[in-house]
Amino acid sequence: MMLQDLLTQRRPILADGATGTFLQQLGLPLGTAPEVWVLEQPALVFAAAEAYVNAGAQIILTCTFGATAARLQEAGLAARAKEINQRAVQLAREAARGRALVAGSIGPLGRLQLALGAVTYAEAVSQFAEQASALAEGGVDLLQIESMSDLREMQAAIQGVRGVTPLPIFATLSFDTNGKTLLGVTPAQAARELAQLDVAAMGANCGHGPWDVAAILREMREAAASATLIAKPNAGVPMLQAGKPVYPVPPMHYATLARDWVRAGAKIIGGCCGTTPEYIAAMRQSLGGEKDQVRPTEFADCPP
Ligand SMILES: [Zn+2]
Repeated sequence: MMLQDLLTQRRPILADGATGTFLQQLGLPLGTAPEVWVLEQPALVFAAAEAYVNAGAQIILTCTFGATAARLQEAGLAARAKEINQRAVQLAREAARGRALVAGSIGPLGRLQLALGAVTYAEAVSQFAEQASALAEGGVDLLQIESMSDLREMQAAIQGVRGVTPLPIFATLSFDTNGKTLLGVTPAQAARELAQLDVAAMGANCGHGPWDVAAILREMREAAASATLIAKPNAGVPMLQAGKPVYPVPPMHYATLARDWVRAGAKIIGGCCGTTPEYIAAMRQSLGGEKDQVRPTEFADCPP
């Protein structure tokens, strides 16, 4: 299976949900980087990926969101960056067994290092290139750069990936601050910029919840008419209950909102923080045609 085959299917492409917060439900301590488990609990990282494939995800992410050497430094694992990236690809591939594509997850360097001047643009490019090279060598089908707030860091990541591999790139930002990213990037600005770069798809992930995604995508669509759009929001902003994060949007409500993203032009839909295989299964059902039982009005009382 190739990305092109999925892109030509008429239905939306179902992606996966959260990796980090789902691993937390499986016992990953809050504050421990999920990448630590690639080394220490590979069976659980595998199980999480497999659960998404079984729920219907056609594209799954590797557990490498924080696996640039710069970010792994916080866990004292910078020297093992290559090993972590490649092992994570192997786990995802084994879980997918040809039923889903594997996308190499690339997240921000962390702590807005580029925007704040803690690293130079060239250093950022080389960090992303190093991670992308390990992921590509490991055998991913595409790279997914996600949760970016800084458009310049997104550019550095794309440049880094392109320097080492021709694989397709998905690029998503987190519009979590009044419809903009933390650094004030608007969806239109991001779409205009990304349309000039060599990306296969662009969109929104994480953010402020699933409610404003349709508006964000419409804004991107207006700025980049031919773009393939991605929607992978979180399940709302969590509240801590007994020390555990609880997300406000349950699977069925989330799946109902997913129809709005598709109407707004999303071709690839999935989830971010707080979503689990249950959410992906609910979306599959909600968008599944004749088995379709969910009506938006049933959820009219859900808080916006
Ligand atoms: Zn998230």
